[in-house]
Amino acid sequence: MPKIFRVALDTPLRRLFDYLPPAQGTIPLSVGARVRVPFGRQRRIGIIAAVAETSQVPVARLKPILEVLDATPVIDSGLQQLLRWGAEYYHHPLGEAVSSALPRALRLGAPGTAREEGWLLTETGALAAAAGEPRRAPRQRALLESLLERRAVSAAVLDQHLGAWRDAARALAARGWIASTEVELERAPAPATVMRTTGPPLLPEQAAAVAAVAASLDRFGAFLLHGITGSGKTEVYLRLIEQVLLADRRALVLVPEIGLTPQLLERFHARFEVPLAVLHSGLTDHERLTAWRDAFSGSARIVLGTRSAVFAPVPELGLIVVDEEHDASFKQHEGGFRYSARDLAVMRARHAAVPVVLGSATPALETLHNALAGRYARLRLERRAAQARPPTLKLIDLRSNAMRAGLSTPAVLAIERHLAEDGQVLVFLNRRGYAPTLLCTACGWIAPCRECDARLTVHLSSARLRCHHCGSDLPLPVRCPQCGFAVKAVGQGTERVEETLGTLFPSARVARLDRDVVRRRGDAEGVMRRMSSGEARILVGTQMVTKGHDFPNVTLVVVLNADQGLFSTDFRAPERLAQTIVQVAGRAGRGSRAGEVLIQTEFPDHPLLKHLLAEGYEGFARAALEERAQAAWPPFSRLAALRDSARTPEVALAFLTQARRLARAPPAGVRLLGPVPAAMAKRAGRYHAQLLIESRERRPLHAFLEEWLPQVEQLRSARAVRWSLDVDPMELF
Ligand code: ADP
Ligand code: ZN
Ligand code: ZN
Repeated sequence: MPKIFRVALDTPLRRLFDYLPPAQGTIPLSVGARVRVPFGRQRRIGIIAAVAETSQVPVARLKPILEVLDATPVIDSGLQQLLRWGAEYYHHPLGEAVSSALPRALRLGAPGTAREEGWLLTETGALAAAAGEPRRAPRQRALLESLLERRAVSAAVLDQHLGAWRDAARALAARGWIASTEVELERAPAPATVMRTTGPPLLPEQAAAVAAVAASLDRFGAFLLHGITGSGKTEVYLRLIEQVLLADRRALVLVPEIGLTPQLLERFHARFEVPLAVLHSGLTDHERLTAWRDAFSGSARIVLGTRSAVFAPVPELGLIVVDEEHDASFKQHEGGFRYSARDLAVMRARHAAVPVVLGSATPALETLHNALAGRYARLRLERRAAQARPPTLKLIDLRSNAMRAGLSTPAVLAIERHLAEDGQVLVFLNRRGYAPTLLCTACGWIAPCRECDARLTVHLSSARLRCHHCGSDLPLPVRCPQCGFAVKAVGQGTERVEETLGTLFPSARVARLDRDVVRRRGDAEGVMRRMSSGEARILVGTQMVTKGHDFPNVTLVVVLNADQGLFSTDFRAPERLAQTIVQVAGRAGRGSRAGEVLIQTEFPDHPLLKHLLAEGYEGFARAALEERAQAAWPPFSRLAALRDSARTPEVALAFLTQARRLARAPPAGVRLLGPVPAAMAKRAGRYHAQLLIESRERRPLHAFLEEWLPQVEQLRSARAVRWSLDVDPMELF
């Protein structure tokens, strides 16, 4: 009875595909290795997911594997376990999940390990060597001896041990005694020293946090490192990583997409002597492959990366760190496999029996809830590490203050004062471009996006109108296309605020940081440099400025508009607003001077803002969790969203309506809500809708999805739409 190999292929089908062993070949087949297989009329690369004795398909109809690509599985058993868990939890086909875990180059068949030139002894060479040949050529003799173990040896190793050996190799090869080959690149030897420098002595709170995690380095434990910005969380990570490295194990560090700042990397390089592998979305396919190989071979001792790095191979994993764990970019919200890298990191740590540290100044309410429920241990850092004091927060009531281009008089006066005292100023506005609206004051025309239910944003410096949802890009008209009257830009974007500040404070250089400025790699660093050097005195920016960057001389932060998050249909909007305010506030006064934070709002009496100001994030979180409990939103319930999009709103709704009908009798506690059109129904020319599935408990929800989804997939109407399932959705549209 031949063995059956069950292969995971990158297809939306929820099943594995059975194959027979290859007709010839000597590489042993292991689970987790890549194979090339016939698939219909194509050939595809897949991963062996299981080995079985029998198949549901008659053996006579099974085809053999064409080629085995890996001797060592590119997906080790720990990752296999993680991916199986993830595919089940997110109800996603294993083949697609596996494929999203591998760099593109590997999916296309690139070798898993870098190869280099090597040499090995042939049969005749072995016989000759045994007979003591060649007698009068000591260099050849030495080379034969180094190959005697009958294992290919790399040219690099021969260089190291033999000095000049190439002439000898040529002579021996000519006699057929040795042959050249390719060998896997030797794993870099463990570095002699781990540390380049030692860190500062730890503060008591830091020491306690390090001790708590260090006490459980040999087993699973989830830790929430809840520390205000500047309290020294990074220092805690560095100390723990140091211990892991000294124990000859490796660390995996996940950071948010934008948070992968040069500053953080610099700190790792400054502290550790060991090789690092860095994985993020800005890499070319080749760079990504190289970094992945460094991780895979084990030569990298620290793997640092964004979301998908949660799937990076890390032999002898000893610790996982998720920095800024609340950050939404850890949730994959596009494409097929919509996983949370943070949640998978916890599961990976559990499987690997190592601790995971989730760090944040503003933990996600889910994480906080897990900590309050005792599932995660909470470690607090309540004091800033350097002498810096926490900033004071104040609201500016926009209803009773004069405004000029988005800036209230008290804000302008404060900026003036801080500049006069040699401080730097950070102005935060979560809207790029010049103005969010182009309006005709004569006939009321507003420049709309033709593809979306949205207005076009004015980009003045490039004289374009752009849609921030679909990317539509049009020339900026001077006159109203409807009546010919002159048009006017209304409202504020970062570009306009930069201009206004330039006029108000002509002697202070203003810098801007948003996605329009940061087009290329290194652009952001340029802006940071101008801020750090003091050349720029005011920085205007979007969300980007809230992450990770340390500006010791910033003494004032102005939040131009806090109100966008207060009245959203998305139950998570207040949480995101609170996190943004606290994070941006944390940029102030990181040096020795105390910082001041001004928040402009039309709703100074809003309970969220009041809690935040009076009791900080902690108080806000308590109130917000109470609200969530009452409304039975996560984390007090579980959600999944079935979403779709189609060319017409009717088609989009029809599929979800039929899907809902299939669920005639959902299990007790599982409720279906909708379908409803998305809040912004039309995006990029397609109409979006969603059906929510809600349950108090996790189990019934997953049992329901397990049964329901395969039926949904079979619906005829499914073929007319693009649909996806999002378990634990981060955004509700
Ligand atoms: P966080 O990651 O919580 O924002 P960091 O680890 O970046 O905080 O620390 C903030 C600042 O305090 C950094 O400049 C860091 O070098 C410094 N720092 C951290 N821990 C200590 C310590 N124990 N003693 C002195 N300075 C420290
Ligand atoms: Zn008009
Ligand atoms: Zn658009």
